[in-house]
Amino acid sequence: MTRQTAVIIGAGISGLTTAVYLQRSGIQTLILEKATGPGGVSTSWKRKGYTFEGGIHWLIGAKKEVPLHQIWLETGALQENNPVYFKDPIYTLVDEKGTMPLYRDLHGLEITGLRDRLALWRLRFHLACFKHFHQPIGDLRGLKVRDPKPFSAWEYVKMLPAVVVTPFLMAQSARGYAKWFKSPRVRALLAAVVEPDINALSLIYTLGTFQVGDSGYPKGGSLRMAQNMADTFLRCGGEIRYHTPALELSVEGKRWSVHTKDEVFSADAVVVSADARSAIDTLFKEPLQDGWAKKMRSGLRTTQCMFLGVGVQADLSTYPRSMQIVLPHSLEAAGRTYKTVVVNNYAAEEGYAPEGCSVITCLLHGPTYGYWKAAKEDGSYVTKKEAVTVAFIEAVGEVIPALRDAVAVTDMATPLTYERYCGTFEGSYMTDWPPFGRLYHAPIRYRYGLYFTGQRTAYSGGLPPAAQSGRVTAQTICKDLGVEFI
Ligand SMILES: Cc1cc2nc3c(=O)[nH]c(=O)nc-3n(C[C@H](O)[C@H](O)[C@H](O)COP(=O)(O)OP(=O)(O)OC[C@H]3O[C@@H](n4cnc5c(N)ncnc54)[C@H](O)[C@@H]3O)c2cc1C
Repeated sequence: MTRQTAVIIGAGISGLTTAVYLQRSGIQTLILEKATGPGGVSTSWKRKGYTFEGGIHWLIGAKKEVPLHQIWLETGALQENNPVYFKDPIYTLVDEKGTMPLYRDLHGLEITGLRDRLALWRLRFHLACFKHFHQPIGDLRGLKVRDPKPFSAWEYVKMLPAVVVTPFLMAQSARGYAKWFKSPRVRALLAAVVEPDINALSLIYTLGTFQVGDSGYPKGGSLRMAQNMADTFLRCGGEIRYHTPALELSVEGKRWSVHTKDEVFSADAVVVSADARSAIDTLFKEPLQDGWAKKMRSGLRTTQCMFLGVGVQADLSTYPRSMQIVLPHSLEAAGRTYKTVVVNNYAAEEGYAPEGCSVITCLLHGPTYGYWKAAKEDGSYVTKKEAVTVAFIEAVGEVIPALRDAVAVTDMATPLTYERYCGTFEGSYMTDWPPFGRLYHAPIRYRYGLYFTGQRTAYSGGLPPAAQSGRVTAQTICKDLGVEFI
């Protein structure tokens, strides 16, 4: 019998997850990736001897007892070469009064007065509700599975408290939730955890993962983790072609083909792990007009950011690892005003900078795609990027003077950078999930033989949905092709 085949568009975390499972299950799999390496938006890169981490800030499922951990092990994402470091405090507020840490168990927060005590009690209560909440990693019904992952009814029962409080949390923003605290310092600290305008469920879910000792940072960051997955796939006999963008999909009978500049690849299963929101408009002969695609087009809101990385010829290891800095003077960048910035400091981590030097990075959130697109069109893109970098160094340099005096190298990515390298819609890296917001997903199985995977097939985005959807897609394909899932 001839071996069944799959072609996957994209070597991001979801594409790699799908690929490893398919290849393990005996389906000969080829990945076509437009970029020069694996990881998609979850990546890091080097500039003049400094490494900028442009992806993982925390990895859910890093803790052994969390079900998702199995996927990271099975896909080779976590190995001996990237042990996980679990930072505590998670963030430290830096303002004119000094510092205040946000520890995993919330001790040490500045709590004064009855209102703050009640707000802290409420926060602890919601976190307690999420103590046993995990993304279940199950198996598709009717699928032959070598190593089944049964999820017991008791596991679901333990998650009930989280389910009960979820509608309440989804109905308000993280910013609104933080306002229950009177202390502006606690509010500012909580604003570091997730984007304040998304719903409070994301805040509690994220803090909940820290509370149970999950959400760590694997040594070597995004690139090592993605490279580990790619190496695992190759070791299983798979093939990756970098620098090979898929240009179009076509179908004859039930067999789909992927067209690149030079070749056409047809397979029993074709998987689109590239951003589904972009794919529905760009990868098909005609833009897709299915109901879900129309809804995605009109309803999906994107999360965008500007990434700044600075290599500094100074040892910044006396500064906290992750800081929420209240700026003495606001930062004006890309038509937006930032009064606070979250700064990650890699000074204490091995391999990010030459001896005695440091790297700091920062994500400036907000919908700036239109701003940068206009700048590209009128020729001011480079100048405007330089202006943002200068303004950032000026503003943060008031708090970390070495930034003004000892800059070795800077780098900046805009949503246009993400669009160019990873093909994401509006250069986004997640889907925005506001209070009361609906999410619009692509289906895992679109037509027989054609599948989607990745963060736009699951809820708002991030590495867990990327990995989980990758596994579900691989299981769906195995089921359709009558193959045992390994
Ligand atoms: C700065 C930053 C920080 C983040 N921090 C975290 C964090 O701390 N924790 C967390 O969980 N998540 C985080 N995320 C989000 C997380 O990285 C993403 O949600 C996840 O990696 C998405 O994976 P994906 O496989 O669905 O998509 P992608 O990463 O977008 O992968 C799609 C792949 O398809 C390729 N591709 C696109 N079009 C084509 C084409 N036509 N032909 C061939 N290949 C194509 C792309 O190049 C890419 O490699 C962060 C993201 C960013 C950018």
